[in-house]
Amino acid sequence: MSAQIDPSIRETAEKVLALERAHGYRDDAVMGGLEEFVRRNLPPAAHTIVAGYQSAPHFARVKTVEQLVSYLRNGVPPPPSPDVLLRPVSEAVGVGGKRTKFLEKLGITTIEDLLLYLPRRLEDRRTFKRIGDLRPGEMVCVRGEIAAVSQIRINPRMQVVKAAIGDGTGFLYAVWFNQPWVAEQLRRGETIDVYGKVERSYGELQMRTPVWEPAGTGMETGRLVPIYPATEGASDRLIRGIIARNLELYADALPDVLPAEIRTHAHLLPKRAAVRTIHFPPDEDAFACARRSLAYEELFLLQLGLLSTAAPDSGKAHADGENLAVSFLASLSFRLTPAQIAALREIVADLRAPRRMMRLLQGDVGAGKTIVALTAMLYAIEAGYQTVFMAPTEILAEQHAHRIRELFAGLPVRVALLTAATKDKVDLKGRLATGEIDLVVGTHALIQKDVKFANLGFVVIDEQHRFGVVQRATIEEKGKDVDLLVMSATPIPRTIALTLYGEFDVSVIGSLPYGTPQTRTVWVAGTRRDEVYSEIGKLLADGGKGFVVLPLVEESEKLDLNAAVQTADELRARFPEYGIGLVHGRMGNDDKHQVMDAFRSGKVRLLVATTVIEVGIDVPDADFMVIEHAERFGLSQLHQLRGRIGRSGQRAICFAVGDAKTDEAKKRLTAFSEHRDGFRIAEEDLLIRGPGDLLGTKQHGFLSSLRAVDLIRDIDLMKQARAAARSVYETGVPPELDREVTRRFGEMLRWLQV
Ligand code: ADP
Ligand code: MG
Repeated sequence: MSAQIDPSIRETAEKVLALERAHGYRDDAVMGGLEEFVRRNLPPAAHTIVAGYQSAPHFARVKTVEQLVSYLRNGVPPPPSPDVLLRPVSEAVGVGGKRTKFLEKLGITTIEDLLLYLPRRLEDRRTFKRIGDLRPGEMVCVRGEIAAVSQIRINPRMQVVKAAIGDGTGFLYAVWFNQPWVAEQLRRGETIDVYGKVERSYGELQMRTPVWEPAGTGMETGRLVPIYPATEGASDRLIRGIIARNLELYADALPDVLPAEIRTHAHLLPKRAAVRTIHFPPDEDAFACARRSLAYEELFLLQLGLLSTAAPDSGKAHADGENLAVSFLASLSFRLTPAQIAALREIVADLRAPRRMMRLLQGDVGAGKTIVALTAMLYAIEAGYQTVFMAPTEILAEQHAHRIRELFAGLPVRVALLTAATKDKVDLKGRLATGEIDLVVGTHALIQKDVKFANLGFVVIDEQHRFGVVQRATIEEKGKDVDLLVMSATPIPRTIALTLYGEFDVSVIGSLPYGTPQTRTVWVAGTRRDEVYSEIGKLLADGGKGFVVLPLVEESEKLDLNAAVQTADELRARFPEYGIGLVHGRMGNDDKHQVMDAFRSGKVRLLVATTVIEVGIDVPDADFMVIEHAERFGLSQLHQLRGRIGRSGQRAICFAVGDAKTDEAKKRLTAFSEHRDGFRIAEEDLLIRGPGDLLGTKQHGFLSSLRAVDLIRDIDLMKQARAAARSVYETGVPPELDREVTRRFGEMLRWLQV
């Protein structure tokens, strides 16, 4: 790229540079500094050279000045250095103060961010037609000469700009509403390209607010146009323009970090070509190939990083005999299903092996994960180790402790509960430190604070996704080579599981103990609420038992509480012959247990509950549920709730009562009533909400560093990238690749290690 530089400007610039050199590169040759001077007076190619001059060390300044001198002499800029990519976006061409702010809103803070800001989709604007061939309804491009421009004020609030465009076969009228400035940009006699929808209005062919540009520009018309996620202040068109201009200048600075063999083997485009193609795709296939190439690189680097956080091969065996486990399983009123046995085998094999366990146990609500984990814990306990069962909330920790004490009643296992509410913490901590406790249930606080163990061997984390991230290092501090099992009842789409749990092995309990629940789900409008309760009346009369769930929103907790009390009262009046109970988060534990026991035994047949029942409540013969204000719940939360009924294989029914006020709520409730499978629900959830909301902000932070990856569809690509990363890892990671991994995913990897 050679640039035309005005000879008088060149002369001035040369003087300035000579002076700067003579002064020893102190950046005082011109007022405001060299950088400012170059930006004001020289073409953009020089901006890339001078970027960062003000803060550059002496040797870099010397080099910059040399490069500028040589650029002025022969008009050819040196190839940009990769460092330029990390310069703030405010230094990009066409980006001023205001635009910087808008771009930052889109997450674009550096020049690299800008180049890698990827289009969501393409719009096919390739077809040009002659005006005489236009048909109303079609979206096309037209090239024609502006024959007339008029400006009409229709009423005080509506101003119209109308341009007549002719191409010898007819006239097309382009119309803009309340954009008076367009009139000033359109000149009679000029030829322009327009794109839009053809309409017929009072016998005229029109295009309303068409896209337009000087004929032959080829940016907004006549090609496959990439459409970028936009925001107020940074329109799609603006972004497109800025990217195009900076691509020319900076794309050559993009480093190709993927090893060449991998690139060839996986049929990937070189980085620069991929980035250029994704912004200027010649056709759909090239676009897909470019996206795939960029996604592959991201996944490869990420997987490489995850490998470095992986468990070392060293470890300890934490299992030996199986007397405890055998007698525990014999004491149960049921047998483990084949899926449970398979999962248990995998876990126990990990415990036995002198290798660190890092395993994710996935399975829908009620699949029987807890029982499997508890059985595995008995192996570790029998081998003389202490174990931890971590739950996401205090209520759940209490429920688990209660249940575990019952289940282990006949076994020589010392169980304790440690939460913020525990009375005699000092005493309990003492007993943990001396090894007098075999299994401690608790919340997060358990592994974070001053809790010490005599001999910790195995940690189980329930509902891992709620903790945000794996707390590996903290666990390590509590014991040496601790085995780790995390459980998730919220099925995570496989791609995300592989991303977030990169080096975890995965066990899945894919079926429920009594087969797929026979729960039917009906979404009912709020106006038909009464019919729902008539139906409930019939179910109660038939001996049924179930829940009425009300949403609980923290900021209006009191209001919701009132609603729950009121609903319970209404139902007591409506169904005086059946026991109606109420549980909510503000109740004391004793009261809560009393109500739950009454519900279990059948004294209470209808249980009104705020969402405290969401996870973990286990009343196998409950067979119906009414979810009030269902539109206020998230999809996975709805699914969790529904998992509380039909748990012994009986037919069950779930009424989701609510009015979907937003499109999203409508999709959510439709998906909820149509799908029963947890993995399907999780995918729908991901499609509806995107990964951000699904996973919480921290994980979203990680995932948003994957710009090109399609988290739902790229599962095969992820596997390929993972395999490639493994082979590179095994043969040794070159330092520049390692640096790139740290640069791109360092923050995410740190989180995983914290
Ligand atoms: P999860 O932790 O996956 O939600 P749990 O382990 O809590 O599931 O099991 C859910 C319910 O099913 C519990 O009441 C449990 O006792 C019961 N259960 C577990 N496994 C079986 C099985 N194989 N057969 C019958 N019931 C089972
Ligand atoms: Mg559970």
